[in-house]
Amino acid sequence: MNTTGLSQDNIVALIDCNNFYVSCERVFNPALKDKPVAVLSNNDGCLVSRSQEIKDLKIPMGAPGFKYEALIKKHGGTLLSSNYALYGDMSARVMEVLSMFSPDIEIYSIDEAFLGLNGFRTRDLEEFGRKIKRTVYKWTGIPVSVGISKTKTLAKIANHHAKKIPAFKGSLCLMDNERIEKALARTPVGEIWGIGRQYDKFLRQRQIETALQLRDAEDKFVDHYMTSVGHKTVLELRGYACINLDEAPAAKKSIVNSRSFGKQVTDLAELQEAVSNYITRASEKLRKQKSVAGYLMVFLSTNRFKEGPQYNNSQSTTLFPPTAYTPELIRIALELLDELYLPGFEYKKAGVMFADIMSENDVPLNFMETNYLDDKRKILMDIVDKLNRKYGQDTLFYASSGLQKDWQMRRAKLSPSWTTRWCDIPKVK
Ligand SMILES: [Mg+2]
Repeated sequence: MNTTGLSQDNIVALIDCNNFYVSCERVFNPALKDKPVAVLSNNDGCLVSRSQEIKDLKIPMGAPGFKYEALIKKHGGTLLSSNYALYGDMSARVMEVLSMFSPDIEIYSIDEAFLGLNGFRTRDLEEFGRKIKRTVYKWTGIPVSVGISKTKTLAKIANHHAKKIPAFKGSLCLMDNERIEKALARTPVGEIWGIGRQYDKFLRQRQIETALQLRDAEDKFVDHYMTSVGHKTVLELRGYACINLDEAPAAKKSIVNSRSFGKQVTDLAELQEAVSNYITRASEKLRKQKSVAGYLMVFLSTNRFKEGPQYNNSQSTTLFPPTAYTPELIRIALELLDELYLPGFEYKKAGVMFADIMSENDVPLNFMETNYLDDKRKILMDIVDKLNRKYGQDTLFYASSGLQKDWQMRRAKLSPSWTTRWCDIPKVK
């Protein structure tokens, strides 16, 4: 496999909040501590977040609440409706604390973020992870787990073990090969980030059952049987960092699109362009997995590692009925941005997040307002998505996304989309 230009010297941490929605509820209602607590999804009443006590009762994720209500009550527990305004706000607070630990933060979902730690080589990284954990808990009340390793995929695995094995006290660092191999040997192949059910089945049929076996699979096998995303997963298991969040598998509970700007941005018009672009990308992801969102948040921040006045804030709203219709989402996001924006600051980053994500099929019936799925808006979105897939991203785009895009990260050296656009696929002459 080709590893030209890839480095094995990265350090990245994944910070993941422990049963996030339940933890948010417990911050404001301490009576819920040490008791079985679960949070229900908005409409269909399935469990979307479970405390450890609920997991100990063997109640599965996604189970219908009514089925287990009696059992939970019997154990002195509580079922709660979801409160996305609270979770969104707590998420913003957690992310703000995390952003103090490294200038290089990538928010992956409502309760997960990657921190680049390349400048931290000389530190005791595991202790540094515990410090992150202590600080987040002290300042927000939210318990987190920290996994540190050479790539995002490995950091995910480290995080999983940090959470599951109490001896690690919530922070695990996998940097040397011996420890990495031990952890990989204990990780079933289906638990690797980005290995879906189909791959899991396929690999198991070929006697590849652990992450270690996949890492050490023969190049010939990987080249022949795995897609480009699968290749990248194997490279990441081998310690080569090569997955960026754009191509990463979408998180289930929330979709985030956020990026640092290529320059300091002060102008509202440029922020509007950026936010329109992020909404466009995030709603494409939403539609690709045939779902809609019931909650939207827009966030904005200056560069805290640069001197000068700082500003960090977010605005959010519920979406009713839930939608995946880009023009409407752009309109709402720009309204939120308007409330959020303060002139005079040099902004470094903006982002959007969808939460309360549900399948198109689960959208509640509503007699007052027509759902976007029921009228021509859905057909329009399908056509736009199809054309953009066929002819390349932004063949059709929204006027508010702008033409200049001065705020964007410099990408002059961007390689072609080898794997995601037909026209960029390498040709054999
Ligand atoms: Mg979590």
